[in-house]
Amino acid sequence: MQRTALVCGAGGFIGGHLVKRLKAEGFWVRGVDLKEQEYGVSAADDFVLGDLREQSTIREVINIQFDEVYQLAADMGGAGYIFTGENDANVMHNSASINLNVVDQCHKLGIKRVFYSSSACMYPEHNQLDPNNPNCAEDSAYPANPDSEYGWEKLFSERLYLAYNRNFDMECRIARYHNIFGPEGTWDGGKEKAPAAICRKVAVAQDGGTIDVWGDGLQTRSFLYIDECVEGTIKLLRSDFEGPVNIGSEEMISINNLANMAISISGKSLKINNIAGPEGVRGRNSDNRLIMDRLGWAPNQSLRTGIEKTYHWIAAELMRKHSQAA
Ligand code: NAD
Repeated sequence: MQRTALVCGAGGFIGGHLVKRLKAEGFWVRGVDLKEQEYGVSAADDFVLGDLREQSTIREVINIQFDEVYQLAADMGGAGYIFTGENDANVMHNSASINLNVVDQCHKLGIKRVFYSSSACMYPEHNQLDPNNPNCAEDSAYPANPDSEYGWEKLFSERLYLAYNRNFDMECRIARYHNIFGPEGTWDGGKEKAPAAICRKVAVAQDGGTIDVWGDGLQTRSFLYIDECVEGTIKLLRSDFEGPVNIGSEEMISINNLANMAISISGKSLKINNIAGPEGVRGRNSDNRLIMDRLGWAPNQSLRTGIEKTYHWIAAELMRKHSQAA
């Protein structure tokens, strides 16, 4: 019998890629999202435009015993959205409502395998003050002290899915994603993240010019290419390990060096202008010891390879936008 999957947040970046992958594996896939996929057309067999905060949508889309459910829908964005404080109530209310609804309807229908996408943003701020030595080991999560309400909601929802595992015999799987990037991710408009924002700024800049980078540029992060994220996600959902576990890269880089990488890929000569802006914690890196131990998995592509693909995709998008406007 054909296997079935539901992807919540299928119009988003990771959801769109995940649908493609599940289709390639032969699944019948239903996607649901508030909006259509931003780039290209969804590969889902059935794409429902709907709001997962609403019970009516939940009952409409979770109405069969899916073999796999991937819950990626969240009210989120880059640092410019999460850290200003202006979106805190929406972020918490919207994402918590989605998770409360999805897990409960899955339980009611006897669906066991539900993947939940948490985030490295749930790790305590005090372990991420040293840019050269951040601690993101899974067991460092408590005592909790995330630096944003986005992180607090992720922590709450992790516990929600784990409670359903304990009390209702479900097999929810939880990953803490660390900065996923790649083609078909948001690259302008304010919700884009650092790799896409930097690639766009470099692609737009005139040779010999400057690009603005938020903060002093010495803050560090690691970034995981989208294909590797999808691979890790599927592997986790189908495993007997509930998590929470990091899905990320251990190739840590400062934001200025990320900008230098994009500049070198562009072949342009550009200067970096560090300006005040929301920047989040000082340092963050994935710690992949647990996922290696439990699933034997680690990403294997270099950051530069992923940034090259992303830079060229964003440069092409800019050209396309430009020629449409002309
Ligand atoms: P995204 O914003 O591209 O996708 C999320 C999707 O959820 C969007 O298409 C949005 O329209 C949809 N959505 C929001 N509210 C909804 C609602 N009420 N009903 C239906 N759909 C709704 O984000 P993404 O980068 O694809 O991330 C997917 C998941 O992974 C999110 O839960 C995010 O918090 C988590 N995550 C992502 C990253 C990353 O670097 N991309 C890092 C950590 C965690």
